[in-house]
Amino acid sequence: MVATLFIDGVWRAASDNGFHDVHSPHDQSVVATVSQATEADVDDAIAAARRSFDSGIFTSWSFKERSDLVSKIADLLERDADLIARKESDDTGKRFTEAQYDLADVISTFRHFAALGAKEHGRKVDVGLPHVHSQIVHEPLGVASLIGPWNYPLLQIAWKVAPALVAGCSFIVKPSELTPQSAIALMKIIEEAGTPKGVANLILGPGSVVGTLLINDPRVDLVSFTGGLTTGQTIMRAAAQTIKKLALELGGKNPHIIFADADLDAAIDNAVTAAFLHSGQVCSAGTRLIVERSIHDRVVSEIVRRAAKIRLGGPSDEMAETGPLISAAHLRNVSEYVEKGVAEGATLLVGGKRSELPEHANGWYYLPTVLDNAKSSMYCVQEESFGPVMTVEVFDTEAEAIAIGNDTNFGLSGGVWSSDSEKAARVASALRHGTIWVNDFGPYRPAAEWGGYKQSGIGRELGEHGLGEYLEIKHIWTNNAPSRSGWFRD
Ligand code: NDP
Repeated sequence: MVATLFIDGVWRAASDNGFHDVHSPHDQSVVATVSQATEADVDDAIAAARRSFDSGIFTSWSFKERSDLVSKIADLLERDADLIARKESDDTGKRFTEAQYDLADVISTFRHFAALGAKEHGRKVDVGLPHVHSQIVHEPLGVASLIGPWNYPLLQIAWKVAPALVAGCSFIVKPSELTPQSAIALMKIIEEAGTPKGVANLILGPGSVVGTLLINDPRVDLVSFTGGLTTGQTIMRAAAQTIKKLALELGGKNPHIIFADADLDAAIDNAVTAAFLHSGQVCSAGTRLIVERSIHDRVVSEIVRRAAKIRLGGPSDEMAETGPLISAAHLRNVSEYVEKGVAEGATLLVGGKRSELPEHANGWYYLPTVLDNAKSSMYCVQEESFGPVMTVEVFDTEAEAIAIGNDTNFGLSGGVWSSDSEKAARVASALRHGTIWVNDFGPYRPAAEWGGYKQSGIGRELGEHGLGEYLEIKHIWTNNAPSRSGWFRD
């Protein structure tokens, strides 16, 4: 019997003993078998979270006590980091070393929120009346459904679980059914660290079934979701029924602008990383290259040369530079996306097909791809492939670079390369995206907010705001010299 659901402090099987196999994207082998929750299981998990929240069992802890708990979770994650990285590498197909980097980021996330929680919360407000004590207090928001994607499975869940715990919320975690193993490991650690029963619950199963229940239930106060735009829209519609709070981290089609006066060696190297890291399965991937016309040929030919020799490989290939796509369905989507780009008039310079190496025959490997002569009007420029596909556009003026960089419904991140610091600062300021890198692309830190403008999302994770998403703000006005209001006649 497979018992990988964690509900009300107990590990248990699905109520109908249902389970499913998790397959490696590298070779389709079965890497795990996990429970698949039923509607009754989801109902139990939401009920447990609601009960624990309403009982005050966790909300009565001080911020400091909850921060200590989160620190302890970080310690335990450090102890088990390699074990969890191995599971994450099996589920996602990324090589073990890459998964180790992700685990280090997970631990930093828990440490960041532990430190933030230990600070003062709330403030006094001067209302200009000496007999009135006016105070803003921060309180846990309630019961949260925390739904994560498959690309950075544990990291994206950590960005939600750590602040939810510090804030004092009760929650139900739902990882992608494609990559559930690291969430199971995290939940075991949360249990070991001494989290009160019912506060943290884990539900596994397909989003279209269990996810739907988690976003519609009136007992849930907040949905924090990272995933695709279409699912985000479904969640917004569901949230309207009970005015749930929402934190949405959605997709991106992120502009990467290179001016002719940039350090081209560094810019080109970063452009390759930005587009092809984790085979482009990164929400902030720099897949939209926007390059000044005079350097187009030099930049693009070098990127193509580099892309053609990127080594693809699975979890145990330590020479691999990037891995497979997550699933057969995703491989199909990426292939169709590239075909559509070519049909619309983009020029395929490299890649554009599945890897033909015999060792990749059973995996979902797609070659790093560059589509030149792209235009803002094309589907491949406007929509996210979430695969290793870079589109290239050219510009002649600073204003044109900005206009192209903003010509998207998304607004997650972008980059600008120039040795003219004033020009780079002007462009950074004009781009309507949640993170802008100047002469860099990709780094982030838990202390800095992360999130999207426009259709890339609502709210912010990380930083201080990332904790704020899980808090209600209450104003308490205490009159120490009560008197009649005197508004209406006696
Ligand atoms: P999906 O939206 O398909 O899935 C994300 C999560 O939502 C999964 O756990 C999925 O479950 C679940 N889900 C699917 N349908 C529903 C539903 N109707 N109700 C509730 N939950 C549901 O996205 P992907 O997993 O395909 O992730 C890729 C997307 O995520 C990309 O668009 C990417 O840009 C975005 N992303 C954004 C990030 C950011 O920081 N802004 C970071 C990482 C990814 P299951 O998989 O089990 O079906």
